[in-house]
Amino acid sequence: MTDILPSSPAASMTSFRRYRFATEVVTIDNSDDPHNASSIPIYQTATFKQKGANASGEYDYSRSGNPTRTHVENHLAKLMGAERALVVTSGMGALDVITRLVRAGEEIIAGDDLYGGTNRLLSFLAQSQNIKTHHIDTTKSDSILPYLSAERTRLVLLESPTNPLIKISDIPTISRYVHERCPNALVVVDNTMMSPYLQRPLELGADISYHSGTKYLSGHHDLMAGVIGAKTAAIGDALYYVINATGCGLNPFDSWLLLRGVKTLAVRMDKQQASSIRIAHYLELLGFKVHYPGLKSHPQYQLHHSMASGPGAVLSFETGDVDISERIVEATRLWSISVSFGCVNSLISMPCRMSHASIPAHIRAERALPEDLIRLCVGIEDVEDLLEDLERALDIAGALLPLPVKQ
Ligand SMILES: *Cc1c(COP(=O)(O)O)cnc(C)c1O
Repeated sequence: MTDILPSSPAASMTSFRRYRFATEVVTIDNSDDPHNASSIPIYQTATFKQKGANASGEYDYSRSGNPTRTHVENHLAKLMGAERALVVTSGMGALDVITRLVRAGEEIIAGDDLYGGTNRLLSFLAQSQNIKTHHIDTTKSDSILPYLSAERTRLVLLESPTNPLIKISDIPTISRYVHERCPNALVVVDNTMMSPYLQRPLELGADISYHSGTKYLSGHHDLMAGVIGAKTAAIGDALYYVINATGCGLNPFDSWLLLRGVKTLAVRMDKQQASSIRIAHYLELLGFKVHYPGLKSHPQYQLHHSMASGPGAVLSFETGDVDISERIVEATRLWSISVSFGCVNSLISMPCRMSHASIPAHIRAERALPEDLIRLCVGIEDVEDLLEDLERALDIAGALLPLPVKQ
């Protein structure tokens, strides 16, 4: 309904972080509640009555704004260090909103090891909207330089770490290159793998950071959401305009569930990360090639830790044999075979067969995505149980032989 208003009511960022993250994440500003409710209520309503024909209140229609959504947006803005945050119906919905800032004929520069759904949306834009994407190896910052065009480049889209190969991009250096050469371009970081607890791209030079709220932010695989953080009010207003125009704002119930879930982000991530570090070392000791920025053997260990406060809870490893990988995945009991990550339960998958199957095989080969790769997304179960279950599966699959020589 509200077509001309540049921003939704009360949605701009007013609270700044004062405490450490783990404190802020459970401290939700509810000072405007008329009854001092301790938990933000669910305003399950499509419309809001007006005081008079010419007197519109703070809210009029939930597509344009809803108090439950405003609360989760303000809270997430604080956590992301954003001027403004916006929540939509999925992570892909978030990227859809962001790419609507690009006009036909303009270009996107993106990584070559992106989330499968991101690749699909970028291909769609190339085919139907005349918006070309250059896929480059963003782990080498200089490889972006030949593609930067002050006239054409509109978005530079990064993931760090990438999933499932866990490659790292230098967000500060790339942001500087882009801003120096392309005043109209926006640096956009998909920060889903890290969550704002471990990495805040807006503080590293990015203009927009977004998350699949389906993953760590909600933490329980019981809702789908996308979260966008804007560095400036102008970018926030432009994104809000698209959300109101297309009607993809998150509904009140899922906004409430997201706000409930995010409160435990820090404790969940601390536990998941500590277990991941143990599991990564265990697999490396057995002789597997492990991809995880918590291991000193990761080629970009230093770079990752210059940007993030931890390695996260997603790792992958190669067994050298697709059949063995398949047997391992199928022999686990505690690790569910599932796409996605960020849930309290541990998950195991073969990306080439599952989450990344939508990428054609020849492109997977081009991008050096090993067919035998196994991805582990570590949950909050007892790590001893996770290790025992994994060891049992490795044994059944015949992957424990031959053991590398130990001293
Ligand atoms: C899951 C995911 C998305 C897409 O989010 P949805 O909520 O599934 O739409 C985007 N990027 C990354 C890195 C993801 O893991």
